[in-house]
Amino acid sequence: SRIPSITLNNGVEMPQLGFGVWQIADDEAFTAVGQALEAGYRSIDTAAAYGNEQGTGKALAASGIDRGELFVTTKLQNADHGYDSTLRAFDASLTRLGLDYIDLYLIHWPMAWRGEFVNTYRAFEKILSDGRAKAIGVSNFQPHHLEQLSAETSVVPAVDQIELHPQSAQTEARAYHAQHNIATEAWSPLGQGKGLLDDPKIAEIARKHGVTPAQAVLRWHLQLGNIVIPKSATPSRIKENIDVFGFELDDDDIASFATLDSGTRLGPDPESFDG
Ligand code: NAD
Repeated sequence: SRIPSITLNNGVEMPQLGFGVWQIADDEAFTAVGQALEAGYRSIDTAAAYGNEQGTGKALAASGIDRGELFVTTKLQNADHGYDSTLRAFDASLTRLGLDYIDLYLIHWPMAWRGEFVNTYRAFEKILSDGRAKAIGVSNFQPHHLEQLSAETSVVPAVDQIELHPQSAQTEARAYHAQHNIATEAWSPLGQGKGLLDDPKIAEIARKHGVTPAQAVLRWHLQLGNIVIPKSATPSRIKENIDVFGFELDDDDIASFATLDSGTRLGPDPESFDG
């Protein structure tokens, strides 16, 4: 496959581009994940909260692809923070997915006011040391949450999955990640398709390279070094979003993208979201 890998801080290789399945119903996930695997994706990003681990798992099994070639991410849902509840929730995710290990297990949101993310992460460390997750990490953690983890736990998260797209380029978080050997994974990499893909500057860059706006945006992520997990339930777009390895943005394009960063958040604020 032409999809490059990112080497995580514990040596695990993660495809830099994968397929996200938020807002795809369980029965539709079977079809969509099947189409993504057919198109060449090997990394799938799901979550307990998405309610589609079962459909995702069925598609993985039906594909006949060797488990070792697949990279499966799932996430602990907010209601399950806490040491024992995390261990139980992890087992339930494995069962729904029909797997005996997860490649990457993430804490979905910090929910800092609950005061449980450190205990939750200690359960993640146990799951990692038992070999039932190949890598562990977090999602929606801000640098100060990561600082607290670093002070109170021992395994540096392999990944922080955060909202990141040209309108919210997350320069500070990315710099913190780079400094601490945490891979940055971009959620809503296409800005959920809303507005961002109609931007005239992106249209111009796309025209110049003979690609679509979505492809130009995904290329921007890849060249920054982000891991990306675009979502689509449309077969032609599923294929389009993985066909991003035949062109390269130049410095002018990257500079033009930089002018779009207004820090505009599409999703909830990680400081307050209680899901
Ligand atoms: P996205 O940025 O991937 O955008 C997806 C939407 O963009 C599609 O629904 C469609 O409307 C449009 N689109 C997709 N491909 C297109 C194309 N080629 N041309 C035109 N339009 C296109 O949005 P997302 O689903 O929010 O994010 C991707 C994944 O990130 C999710 O599926 C999920 O796995 C993950 N995610 C994680 C969190 C988190 O809290 N950790 C939050 C949101 C999303």
